Amino acid sequence: MIKTSSIKKVRDLISEQKKNTKSVGLVPTMGAFHEGHESLIKKARKENDYVVVSIFVNPAQFAPNEDYNLYPRDIKSDLLKAENNGADLVFMPNDKVIYPEDYSTYVTVEELTDKLEGKSRPSHFRGVTTIVTKLLNIVTPDNAYFGQKDAQQLAVVKRMVKDLNMPVKIVGCPIIRNQSGIALSSRHHYLNRTQMKTAVGIYESLKEGVKMIKSGTSDFGAVKERILDVLQNFGIKRIDYVEFNKWESLEPLRKPEGKVLISLAVRIGNTRLLDNVILDSPRL
Ligand code: AMP
Repeated sequence: MIKTSSIKKVRDLISEQKKNTKSVGLVPTMGAFHEGHESLIKKARKENDYVVVSIFVNPAQFAPNEDYNLYPRDIKSDLLKAENNGADLVFMPNDKVIYPEDYSTYVTVEELTDKLEGKSRPSHFRGVTTIVTKLLNIVTPDNAYFGQKDAQQLAVVKRMVKDLNMPVKIVGCPIIRNQSGIALSSRHHYLNRTQMKTAVGIYESLKEGVKMIKSGTSDFGAVKERILDVLQNFGIKRIDYVEFNKWESLEPLRKPEGKVLISLAVRIGNTRLLDNVILDSPRL
């Protein structure tokens, strides 16, 4: 496995692969790998001849009051995990390589980014779509891998690629959970044991919501009440949102219709955690 922070080196290695008609897969990450990241790398390994993993904690997607400085970084362990899961190249640029002093270009996707996470974090997706565009331009992969864990991010990136005719396939990957059902997140580094126990309530609440919908409840208002109840029973009181949207258009839904994304964001201590499920509306 090769590691580099140089854009030129990445381009040279990729053009060599492409000369030999090899397919290239990209897994963009912010590091602090867990099994969720590893599952993306594994999938990329299965589906491509050459696998690139990028590690870059992207300052542009953090607001000034957010956790950019605290964000967990563990490059040694990440490199080991990348290699063990079959990565060929790890691209780990520094801030100056990605955002030189005169940097002034940003990519924005409208509407889709106004809701859910976008409401709580107004500048977040502008940072995400900008870095993803840059990484796609640098690596020029055939396939790029994103987790459903960040469902809105996946929908936004898919829309951007479609709208801008970018020649890449965006591959969505399932959420990896621990034994208690908690969706793995690098931000779990911030949680103590008691808080991890509390976090179990997040997926429990979503499962209750799914159960209600599957058993015929068509009023999402009632489902939301139930989800809020479960969260509160687990001691989760700071709830940013619980929402029901059509997957992948993210149109708000009041009742089942097609594929439904139930997503939520809560705070446990100072840590903001996300989770979601996507389910088919039952035929009634
Ligand atoms: P991050 O390093 O948090 O930017 O995440 C890098 C990629 O890993 C994103 O596409 C995430 O959606 C994905 N990811 C993060 N957590 C999980 C998880 N628990 N299961 C599957 N994918 C995940």
